[in-house]
Amino acid sequence: MMPPVGHNTALFLDIDGTLLDLAREPDKVFVPQDLVMALKTLNTRLRGALAFVSGRSLMSIDSLFAPFKSAAIGAHGGEIRGVDGHVFRAGPLSQAVRDLFTGLAGNIPGLLLEDKGCALALHYRLAPEAKPVLLSAVESHRKLFDAERIDVMLGKAVIEARHRGIDKGTAVASLAKQRPFAGRHIVFGGDDTTDEDVFRILPRLGGRGFSVGRHFTGAEYLFESPRAVRQWLVDTAAAGVP
Ligand SMILES: [Mg+2]
Repeated sequence: MMPPVGHNTALFLDIDGTLLDLAREPDKVFVPQDLVMALKTLNTRLRGALAFVSGRSLMSIDSLFAPFKSAAIGAHGGEIRGVDGHVFRAGPLSQAVRDLFTGLAGNIPGLLLEDKGCALALHYRLAPEAKPVLLSAVESHRKLFDAERIDVMLGKAVIEARHRGIDKGTAVASLAKQRPFAGRHIVFGGDDTTDEDVFRILPRLGGRGFSVGRHFTGAEYLFESPRAVRQWLVDTAAAGVP
């Protein structure tokens, strides 16, 4: 069973692990051209009601799919761009948190630090053995994070610090109020722990969810892999939106 897409659908799509296969480094993902074409077609048919919902920065999202550009939520909700191109950006993280993450990245070989301004992500896919060290470093700075109102999230081979109270769920709820998303039937897809913030609020938004790889509470549909999601989007774009 595939999620239904009609002319009154609003599509909210996570990128890594949902549309694209995960790569060893975030910059090394492969973006198939038939996916870009399908997204472009769907975005036109849905009158712009297609948005990426990613942990990546808007800049990174745009460079992946260039020249295609749509509404988008970046940095796990820290950046929200409407169809009119207007961007909301959360403020930068404090210097103390920035120093802590920079220090960890500098001291452990293989770590990649991604600075999104309003969030910091430490990727350890190239150094999986660093995970326990990172987790204990995070644990020992609990007080700092609480004082700065920062949440530290664990994703697939990534540890990310970001503002408390801002997540993919709050961002989707906010973008869903704007035109052309308002009043449409939301379909959201994700594959990772940070997507649970969206799955959780879908009932309130009257939306439906699909997950990739494994089932998440709140997701009605399950795709086996990003490849299966891409095939569904390519087929849906080819079939036309009813
Ligand atoms: Mg993902």
